[in-house]
Parts: sequence; C-alpha cells; structure tokens
Amino acid sequence: MLSPSKIVCVGRNYVEHARELGNEVPKEPLIFLKPPSSLLAPGRPILLPRQSQQVEFEGEIGVVIGARLRRAEPAECRSSIRGIVAANDVTARDLQRSDSQWTRAKGFDTFCPVGEMAPAPDDLTTLEVVTRVNGSERQRGRVADMAFDIPALLAYISAVMTLEPGDLVLTGTPAGVGTLSAGDEVEVEVVAPSADSRATVSRVRNPVVELR
Ligand code: ZN
Repeated sequence: MLSPSKIVCVGRNYVEHARELGNEVPKEPLIFLKPPSSLLAPGRPILLPRQSQQVEFEGEIGVVIGARLRRAEPAECRSSIRGIVAANDVTARDLQRSDSQWTRAKGFDTFCPVGEMAPAPDDLTTLEVVTRVNGSERQRGRVADMAFDIPALLAYISAVMTLEPGDLVLTGTPAGVGTLSAGDEVEVEVVAPSADSRATVSRVRNPVVELR
C-alpha cells in the first residue's frame, strides 16, 4: 500500500467529461487534494456515507512520484515518475455541488481505491483507463485525449507545492461517470495496448457497501 504525503488530483482534464458535467475545459489544470486517509486497497469495500445520496466512480490513471519535484519543467518530470496505478477518485457528487469546495465530497474514508503499482511504460501516451461496474464498461479514456498531458500536470503542480517521493497524482477522469449503489462492484483498469496485446498495467476492484 502506498503512503503518500498527499494525493493531488486534476479535475476536468478530459474534454468529454468536462462537458458531461456542464463545465468548460479549463485553460489551466484544475487541482485539488484528497486526504491520504481516503486510500483503499484492492478488494476492500467502498463505504457509502449517510451524508450523500449520489456517490460516483471516477476511473483515473494515477502517477506515483519517485523523485522530488519543485518548480520543475515538464521535461524533468518524466524521469521522476516511479510508477503507474489504477485509481478511483470516488466523489459524492451532490456534496461537490452543494459545498463551495470539494474537501468533503472527495475526502471520505475509502474514497481513493488504488491498485498495485507498475513501472511506467516508455510512452505514457499509450496508456488507457477503463472503468467497469458489475462487469460492464462505463468509461474509457486515453492519455492522448487529456487536455494537459502527464509531464505538464506534474510541472504545473510542482510550481505550487513540492511533490515528494511516494506522492500520488490522479490525472483526471474521462466521460461516463455514474452513481454507485450498495451491492455494486467497481473496477478501474489501466492498460497499455500494444500492437499484439492489451497488457494490464494496474487494476483495482472494490465492492460497494452502505456505511452502517
Ligand atoms: Zn477525478
């Protein structure tokens, strides 16, 4: 299990997802934090809190930092990536809308399932993220479709806060987000398709249960 000092997330980084929530794609990356206490291991249950009636999945490609980044250029950021994880930026969408900022909506315990880390491929733009609920595909996005690519995101974040080894950056979710109900099973898979195979890079699958 990772133990990042922080989890930095990027909102509205895929054009289609920004539009499905009625937002414009920002001119600069939109960043926010999830607390490390939201981390969840594969197989452990996502707990639906009483405060929300609309908990949604957001499948994302997660980047684990390997070397400190502070005010870095995009070109420096590539070599500082330790690995890639599948991640789920679970979000209480109703609370995201009603609160003026997102700490509560994004910060509940169990709201950050993360899979096993794998080495980053040489070409990050080949990565895809796929989300399935109860086995049926709900989201599919490619790094090539991001508004801001991964080195640009890391450089942008590092101009604000130092990224430490072990920190986790979630790079945004593609279109297709939807609600989770008790009894569902949600899976996020990061794949690196090649000409002759669709190799899984990382995968995280979790049941969904009501918090009692
Ligand atoms: Zn997200």
